[in-house]
Amino acid sequence: MTDFDFAKFRLQFPALTHGQCYLDSAATALKPKSVIDATLEFYSQEGATVHRSQHRAAQSLTEKYEQTRVRVARWINAALPENIVWTRGTTESINLVAQSYLAPRLQPGDEIIVSQAEHHANLIPWLMLAERYKATVVTLPLDEKFLPDLNRLPALLNRRTRLLALGQMSNVTGGMPDLSRAIELAHANGTLVLVDGAQGVVHCPADVQALDIDFYVFSAHKLYGPTGIGVLYGKTALLDDMPAWHGGGKMLTYASMQGFTPQTVPHRFEAGTPNIAGVLGFDAALGWLESIDTAAGERYAQHLATQAEQQLAALPGFRSFRWQTASILAFDIAGVHHNDIVTLTAEQGIALRAGQHCAQPLMEAMGVSGTLRASFAPYNTADDVDRLVKSIKYALELLAD
Ligand code: PMP
Repeated sequence: MTDFDFAKFRLQFPALTHGQCYLDSAATALKPKSVIDATLEFYSQEGATVHRSQHRAAQSLTEKYEQTRVRVARWINAALPENIVWTRGTTESINLVAQSYLAPRLQPGDEIIVSQAEHHANLIPWLMLAERYKATVVTLPLDEKFLPDLNRLPALLNRRTRLLALGQMSNVTGGMPDLSRAIELAHANGTLVLVDGAQGVVHCPADVQALDIDFYVFSAHKLYGPTGIGVLYGKTALLDDMPAWHGGGKMLTYASMQGFTPQTVPHRFEAGTPNIAGVLGFDAALGWLESIDTAAGERYAQHLATQAEQQLAALPGFRSFRWQTASILAFDIAGVHHNDIVTLTAEQGIALRAGQHCAQPLMEAMGVSGTLRASFAPYNTADDVDRLVKSIKYALELLAD
């Protein structure tokens, strides 16, 4: 596995210059220098905001800001830049769809199908809506590999099903359901599909047109971009038919004391001064990603996860929840609590995560109270794998005393 120049890739990340063993990229990716520079440049050089002022800096900034929308559209093969709505992240994007698309259409007794593998971000907004409108969240159960069981989907779809909410990739197992099949089944029933791409977009951005996805949501920060900026992709006809959500400046074309006329999409959903630094930083992240062989980087990260899994498998009680060759490795050690292990590995300087990973229903399906999770990115090294394995062994020795 030498086809990826990890040393060169790693050098782009200032956060790694102190020898940190960072194995928490599924929570958030580290930022390359180009992203940090773009953000810094905005705050230090560009005294302006977007879509408001007439002066030259404001105009050129608005152009750059809108060009990023074009770039994001290209990244997921959206038909138009207007299909891209800026949000604070995946969570806000899902809440926007829940409140602006689904809420006005939901009748008592309607159903929303949600897989049991979802992150809370793709469950709680639907539960909140169901409670408010007397609708029902229907569970799409998992198969033996903890993947949403699409064989059981046809029996769950009926004339009351308004939406299917499905993750592209689990943030725990790394499992990826067959999106194309799920969407085909849902559409055959006249049901829309929201795909949570928070993890999936990092490893394999969805082609929203080829897959015929209705809503696709993700955050910039897992894709090497800044925090606080994310995307809602929606089909034109769906977004056009959604009422404004947050009220405020620049989401309207006319306002009086009696009412207002909303803007066209996407600006209708972007009230207030936006996260300009976030958008520019995200632009830098995408530009940088376009310049590297991400497929080779992905293979390399998966290879590291395989090495870690194989070495940890020698430990008594080790159990892996990893799906196929995913770069995310969730695991536990029988008889030892994940919190005890992670406290000791943290003392060793290992950035590992333990707990429920905002996926408690999935933990229930897996029959565990939580897991450890090492998530690998192309900036990790074989040395990180060694350090992880050594620190787990060390923790287990201490805990056995
Ligand atoms: N869905 C999945 C699968 C995730 O991994 C995450 C982030 N952990 C989210 C949704 C929520 O993303 P954010 O916190 O950036 O809104």
